Amino acid sequence: MPIGIDWGGTSIKAAIVDGAAVRGFARIETSGEPAAILDAIAGLVRVLDPRTESVGVAIPGEVRPDGRCWRLPNVPGFEDVNIGAELHARLNLPIGVENDATAAALAERLYGWGNQYGSFLLVTLGTGIGGGLVLDGHVRRGTGGFAGEIGHVLVESGEQAWTCGCGKRGCMEAYAGIAGLLRKYAAVKGSDSLFGTKRGSDPLSAASATEEEGTKRGFDPFPRTIKEIADADDAGTQAVWQQLGWALGTGLGVINNVLDLDAIVFTGGVANSLSRFEALIRKAMQARAFAPPLAQLPLLTSRLGEQAGVIGAAHLPAAK
Ligand SMILES: [Zn+2]
Repeated sequence: MPIGIDWGGTSIKAAIVDGAAVRGFARIETSGEPAAILDAIAGLVRVLDPRTESVGVAIPGEVRPDGRCWRLPNVPGFEDVNIGAELHARLNLPIGVENDATAAALAERLYGWGNQYGSFLLVTLGTGIGGGLVLDGHVRRGTGGFAGEIGHVLVESGEQAWTCGCGKRGCMEAYAGIAGLLRKYAAVKGSDSLFGTKRGSDPLSAASATEEEGTKRGFDPFPRTIKEIADADDAGTQAVWQQLGWALGTGLGVINNVLDLDAIVFTGGVANSLSRFEALIRKAMQARAFAPPLAQLPLLTSRLGEQAGVIGAAHLPAAK
């Protein structure tokens, strides 16, 4: 059976995959030089199943047509590294390597909503906003491996637009990624009323500064995760859902004007709360829709959940 590797920013998960089922599982932390990380992945494969038939790797970055990695934003040193060739040299097995959201979209096409919908966008909600595109039953990786990278669609213009991790302003990810949502929460809650910092200071730095301060003084710190924001269920939480729905709906409205998809499928930790902001996404999509049907498509959560990465990865070599 093939092995699927889901390479996150801080850990690498590996699993023996049988169709849509996960038979064996292991996880290691990612750190060190690229060669050491690649050795560790090869070691993980040998430990899980030394006789495996093939290995697929879902990476937090993009793969060029020649197999070289564009870059891994959260794992330094992988610019231009051919991960597939490096692992083949270590394991002498067929290796597939693909962007993680695109690999998850492959899993969804094979074993999830792909059974009902031929053309859909898989949207990953987390630290960043990623995506994988399936058109007429085929996963599209794009010429340069960037197809479905939806996080950097413009949703706000001008000097006041929030800066994105990519360096540009006004991207969907700047508002709908975790950092943007935490920033919104901190801004609405007004860090001054809780911890005595000056109103008008940068909400992001205020949130981190006051967390230390708050802990020292015995106050509850600000929420640090979307689950904590959801659990708080206060005015800040409502503002976060508003911002998330607006940013996603605005960006996806633009995208669906171009693609006219059958459905949009959300995955990632934030997707567990989809019912809280689904109507807000649709409202913003309606505002952007060229024609009403473009905002009426189903908005769904992934059927595969957290396992989509390893499942999609494992099927990469056969899907080539
Ligand atoms: Zn961006």
